Amino acid sequence: MGSMFEFVNRYFDRAAAGSDYPQGLLDVIKACNAVYRFAFPFRRPDGTLEIINAWRVEHSHHKMPTKGGIRYAPFVDEEEVKGLAALMTYKCAIVDLPFGGAKGAVQIDPKRYSIEELERITRRYVHELLKKNFIGPGIDVPAPDYGTSEREMAWIVDTYQALTPGSLDGLASVTGKPVPEGGVRGRREATGRGLFFALREACSVAEDMTSRGLTPGLDGKRIVVQGLGNVGFHAAKFCREGGGLIVAIAEQDGAIANERGLDPEAVAAHRRESGSILHFPDARDITPTAAALELDCDILIPAALENVLTADNAPRIKAKVILEGANGPTTPEAEAIFRERGLLVVPDVYANAGGVTVSYFEWLKNLSHVRFGRLEKRLEENDEARFVRALESLTGKALSDDDRRLLVHGADEQDIVNSGLEETMIVAYHAIRDALLRTPALGNLRAAAFRTAIDKIARSYLDLGVFP
Ligand code: GLU
Repeated sequence: MGSMFEFVNRYFDRAAAGSDYPQGLLDVIKACNAVYRFAFPFRRPDGTLEIINAWRVEHSHHKMPTKGGIRYAPFVDEEEVKGLAALMTYKCAIVDLPFGGAKGAVQIDPKRYSIEELERITRRYVHELLKKNFIGPGIDVPAPDYGTSEREMAWIVDTYQALTPGSLDGLASVTGKPVPEGGVRGRREATGRGLFFALREACSVAEDMTSRGLTPGLDGKRIVVQGLGNVGFHAAKFCREGGGLIVAIAEQDGAIANERGLDPEAVAAHRRESGSILHFPDARDITPTAAALELDCDILIPAALENVLTADNAPRIKAKVILEGANGPTTPEAEAIFRERGLLVVPDVYANAGGVTVSYFEWLKNLSHVRFGRLEKRLEENDEARFVRALESLTGKALSDDDRRLLVHGADEQDIVNSGLEETMIVAYHAIRDALLRTPALGNLRAAAFRTAIDKIARSYLDLGVFP
């Protein structure tokens, strides 16, 4: 199987074919601008020394800072980080965020280390980045990814601020932080919530549904989710709240299914107690876990790792819609099969952009040093209360307390973040769908999304006067 970077470039080339950009410009867009690979020694509590390999890749500096998560995973390699960094560049362009793409990785299995060790590793990683100018609010801004969470982001911001005393914008050096440490409300759920908005939008286009034998709308659609990490859990939760039926959930050690629907919160609680999603009351276990991908369903959400949909299983996938929560879950060979079979693939490069979108809001909050809604919440409420009083005096009727609460509610940070995310996902979906309608030869939404990104990035280079 090819590397992640190669796969991303193949998607890029397919999308660029037929455009009239000079090859030199396309090559400039595709290239990874900076790859920082480093290794540091690490002493385990038993006294043994080991070498830890790590990377930070800044794919494109056409906009600054660069942005992208850090993953902790045992099998990560340089080509994977480059591919994921490139994907971030295109992702940010598609949802109109003023960032270049980046990605970082530490080659460890976090389950093999204590929390204290993970903290030492994370702080050392930040030291190394800072030494080479690979981190900073206007340089390169990390975030969580596979194997990292708010906890690591809190260590990162603390280390950054300790090493750059007095820096006014230090909080903006990393996103995905806990709210008390400068995070923004809604970031944790953002990727999953964004996936739900993407799916709701895809299902709302009647002709795209009926042409695949589905009724329009998310209501009652049977969904299989692979991965119950932060992304998969929240995607499942919001899709269920939006009317979908979660008929199966797959994890590393096996999958569970129930045609009448599963509650992801109850499944997560069961895993917390028992250590596994298996043996969930009122569901049947499925092993091997990969079999869950091939279950009879309407929508499949791969939300774990890359390359899970391949030439091997693609012909057997029964879902009509694939919503990519993970980065790179579909190989180009599987993609060709899905295209031929007429599946609707809502591609990672758009579908999971909710995380980085809300990261952008967090970065703005940190730079502005003020919580969203702080200045206008009360003003809005006063205006709304005036409107309600006018309505009551016109109609001669008093509103119920519930109706009043609905009408008189100044937007707080969570409301503003969620509505900004919703707007972003809706606008971007129609932008890529329209691009496909304009140029049907692109063949699918992924190519349309990549073409949209290429157009925007090319424009910013052409505006700079770099190319005649
Ligand atoms: N790691 C996430 C992604 O792949 C989020 C990146 C960010 O928030 O910067 O999109």
